[in-house]
Amino acid sequence: MSRPIVAIVDLHALRNNLAVARHHAGSARVMAVVKANAYGHGLGNVLPALTDADAIAVVELESAVFARDRGYVKPLVLLEGFFSQDELARFVELSLTAVVHCAEQIEMLRSARLTRPIDVHIKINTGMNRLGFAPEELSAVTEALRGSGNVRELVAMTHFADADGKHGVDWQLERFNAAISGLSLSSCMANSAALLRYPQTRGGWVRPGIMLYGASPFADVSANTLGLRPVMTLRSRVIAVQNLRPGDSVGYSRTFIAPRAMRIGVIACGYGDGYPRHAPTGSPVTISGQRVATVGLVSMDMLCVDLSTVSEAGVGSEVTLWGDGLPVEEVATAAGTVSYELLCALKSRVPVEVRQ
Ligand SMILES: *Cc1c(COP(=O)(O)O)cnc(C)c1O
Repeated sequence: MSRPIVAIVDLHALRNNLAVARHHAGSARVMAVVKANAYGHGLGNVLPALTDADAIAVVELESAVFARDRGYVKPLVLLEGFFSQDELARFVELSLTAVVHCAEQIEMLRSARLTRPIDVHIKINTGMNRLGFAPEELSAVTEALRGSGNVRELVAMTHFADADGKHGVDWQLERFNAAISGLSLSSCMANSAALLRYPQTRGGWVRPGIMLYGASPFADVSANTLGLRPVMTLRSRVIAVQNLRPGDSVGYSRTFIAPRAMRIGVIACGYGDGYPRHAPTGSPVTISGQRVATVGLVSMDMLCVDLSTVSEAGVGSEVTLWGDGLPVEEVATAAGTVSYELLCALKSRVPVEVRQ
């Protein structure tokens, strides 16, 4: 038998979550964000479950080529657009939509000789201060792109900084609406949090990511409450048991000292599989459906849990690191990070089992 770790990718859950997104989107078109290898789930694995989406969005040209090779024919958006002029021929050939966010990209588009125009989303910086034109530049940018002869459909887009948090979206939405007024552009704004919480951000397109994978974007609302189901479940098994005496330590640096006699289960999963090394003692794991706590430092190939409360557990017992029965958000919170990072961090050595 091979090492028992596996990541199960449940496409039924993904279809369910896409339907939830579609429901919230109303008449807006849904662009499924599948960057970072579909948030670690595998772009090739998830594509068959996204036939109900109106478009997908990636970051690298290689991912777009991969999706087209796999037969994806709908609009395909590159969220950072193109990085050099020679990529533009590929945008034409593969009918890719480019996000255009800076003057350098406009210049590349203007001076290119394309055999066909491409679709463009103009990114407006409404407060994120990462990518995008200032709101007051939009009218000139629109004119320059329309005049280039190399652009077909134009959509105005922006990205929210705190749709999941206390600052909300209104401060950015005001700037966005002022910028597009009178320009007859369709709009594309909402990430998962905005889509779920602020219907006024729907516009012509919405761009959900994390919710499709079944994680809640909010600290105070569970995925279950939102009707979302986890797509990735990371499973492994107990491969050894240690009986500790009071005062014995566990793992590297001896960060955990047994306060009493304890049974410790050693699980075949470590940071070399994508489990966060920063998860402290006490991070949740489930074993036979019961919650147990990690003890000591996570190592590359293994981590340890306290088996004191699950006497029936032993070598071979199945363990869930996150997913079905243990929301990845809870593990992320314990480790001081977000669900996005844990999902994206899944390492290629972990076998993936796709369930249709
Ligand atoms: C990642 C990303 C999204 C999706 O965000 P979620 O919080 O995962 O829903 C949407 N738009 C852009 C520009 C992104 O980079």
